[in-house]
Amino acid sequence: MSAYHRLADIQADLAAGKTTCVALAEGYLSRIKARPELNAFLEVFEEELLQQAAAQDARRAEGQPLGRLHGLIIGLKDNIAYQGHRFSASSKILEGFESLFSATVTERLLAEDALIIGRLNCDEFAMGSSNENSAYGPVRHPLDTERVPGGSSGGSAAAVAANLCHAALGTDTGGSIRQPASLCGIYGLKPTYGRISRHGLIAYGSSFDQAGPMTRSLEDCALLLEVMAGPDQFDATAARKPVPAYSDYQPASGTMRFAVYEEVLQGGLEPELEAAFKAKIEALKEAGHTVDFVKFPYLDLLVPVYYLLATAEASSNLSRYTGVLYGKRSPEATDLRTTYTLSRSQGFGEEVKRRIMLGTFVLSEGYYDAFYGKAQKVRRVVRDETRKLLESHDAILSPTSPVAAFKLGEKSNDPIQLYLADIFTVQANIVGMPAITVPFANNSAGLPYGLQLMCGPWQEEKLFSLTAAIE
Ligand code: GLN
Repeated sequence: MSAYHRLADIQADLAAGKTTCVALAEGYLSRIKARPELNAFLEVFEEELLQQAAAQDARRAEGQPLGRLHGLIIGLKDNIAYQGHRFSASSKILEGFESLFSATVTERLLAEDALIIGRLNCDEFAMGSSNENSAYGPVRHPLDTERVPGGSSGGSAAAVAANLCHAALGTDTGGSIRQPASLCGIYGLKPTYGRISRHGLIAYGSSFDQAGPMTRSLEDCALLLEVMAGPDQFDATAARKPVPAYSDYQPASGTMRFAVYEEVLQGGLEPELEAAFKAKIEALKEAGHTVDFVKFPYLDLLVPVYYLLATAEASSNLSRYTGVLYGKRSPEATDLRTTYTLSRSQGFGEEVKRRIMLGTFVLSEGYYDAFYGKAQKVRRVVRDETRKLLESHDAILSPTSPVAAFKLGEKSNDPIQLYLADIFTVQANIVGMPAITVPFANNSAGLPYGLQLMCGPWQEEKLFSLTAAIE
């Protein structure tokens, strides 16, 4: 069976009696078993999935109404809560922890009859760009297992690309949906900050985090956003804005105006990507669109600002893991102090510790103004400048990542090198605007490149229409 790209095709086949949810589930389960080396899943809910699939088949046979996501077999990144199921953000410190409630996004998927297949490996606490920071081992790229799938939602991207589930949810604090989606050749959307509730996500950088869909088609991406978006009584930052019918998007007609940062084509891209990106720009111009090369003098500041602010927020968010309330408590702890120190030093991995220390440092007395305060000011300037740019342009266009999937170990010894690979993705989180990655080319080894489009706040509809028009 060739892989389905659109849920609509699955639902058509279900309606026509050409397949069943059980048959679909069995297909994904057998493909998961055939590719253990990918290490994409931390846990597969095999029995539960088969039961729910059978129940859904029975409801269809009886002619009962089914939700908009019926037949959709989806995986959850391991930092998204699902009641009664374990979740750990791929960290030893949450070993054995079971969630008492479901995230709002999980609830909304279930309410529309999605079927959840399991929890997906990721970088520990979503910190990383290669999925090498998981306490449960790295995820490998489906097309070349010597390479990384990207991160931190690497398990989600690899699983969707290898057809181990039809779609997945990821979370994106600085690119963790878009960068792995780009490296694995699928679609990934980071919505406007506040478009989707964060209730039930394990917090990393609370002013940056958003959950979002990772899919094999633009249509599914829009549909999943539509189902998950909207206000939520459990998250005051989820905006009270009505949710448009995202899934009704039409390809934008007429000519559009794109902005490309001059600096992007000044030597930062690997050569094959540079060629592919230039060819894309030429194709857009030939189709009558305008592509303006603009100066954006803040590009070099984005990664430092992101890592200062995200680690500051992370150090505060991660202070709740003390060995007292949830997850792992060090067996050697003898009193309160050793409960904290031993549980944390044994429970957190190296990268997480590095970030807690960095975040604590930038928030500490005497450094707060120089680092945290200054980064907040730059954040404001970048937001204002980005808004200005998007007043005269429909979208900002860039590659999603400056490189294709790289080898395991290639960058992991040099954190700064790895942080710099986030150069194109962090801006959308810093300014809270929506951005999507779309597969647009392959290198000579067949590894995918993603194109990123970023629009103004709450312009997801436009993002889908533009993407559909220029794909
Ligand atoms: N790579 C970035 C980081 O390590 C982004 C992570 C994310 O979006 N969760 O922080």
